[in-house]
Amino acid sequence: MRTKIVAGNWKMNKLPSEAPALIEGIRKATNDGDCGVDVVVCVPFTDIPAAAQALKGSKIGLGAQNMHWKDAGAYTGEISAAMLKDLGVQYVILGHSERRQYFAETDETVNLKLKAALAAGLTPIVCVGETLEEREEGKMQEVIVRQVSEDLAGCQEDFARIVIAYEPVWAIGTGKTATSTQAQEVHALIRATLAKMNPEQADEVRIQYGGSMKPENAADLMSKPDIDGGLIGGAALKADSFAAIVHAGK
Ligand code: PEP
Repeated sequence: MRTKIVAGNWKMNKLPSEAPALIEGIRKATNDGDCGVDVVVCVPFTDIPAAAQALKGSKIGLGAQNMHWKDAGAYTGEISAAMLKDLGVQYVILGHSERRQYFAETDETVNLKLKAALAAGLTPIVCVGETLEEREEGKMQEVIVRQVSEDLAGCQEDFARIVIAYEPVWAIGTGKTATSTQAQEVHALIRATLAKMNPEQADEVRIQYGGSMKPENAADLMSKPDIDGGLIGGAALKADSFAAIVHAGK
């Protein structure tokens, strides 16, 4: 049985002075994260120290939203896995569609980052998903298989430590959600792709759905056999809606 995992992606929201109040609300509403579902908050880099402090004594995991693949060096403006670890970060989102779309993230750089995150002992949340155009052109399967194969290449022995988020780009921040049947179809395709790469660990990989997940649709989505939780954007910025999604995963 895979334990469900619900992670909030705060994106570029919440000041360090605002983060503790949201975390306090999430702690209260999820029994400090001790609720049968793994709960994670992925905060902006600048919020990490305040969030780490506010999460002390809870079971809620702390995540970042990106990192560089090099350990250290002349990479102005970048943050390494070791820097995240040193601040108590446990999870890191990699290859989010907004990074692919606006910041030239590629399958190759996601793969480099994934290897660095695993080497540092971070739990990566690797995002994959097709655009509306790709879906309409009948290329969804090709895109998903390519992203999973290239992003996770060479990491087969660590599959059980990797979380994947299927996030159809057309559903992110748009209010349009994939139906649970549409999402399950892609989650099954992701698991079948993983099984070709490492049949022994494919069943252990947790695959989250992301894209306008909210309290109203979360239970239906997470009732599907290959949907092991959610990566939540907008609804993660309010403690009540985020916690309602967490509880829907029980
Ligand atoms: C996301 O960006 O990871 C996401 C799922 O956003 P939203 O829930 O707002 O669609």
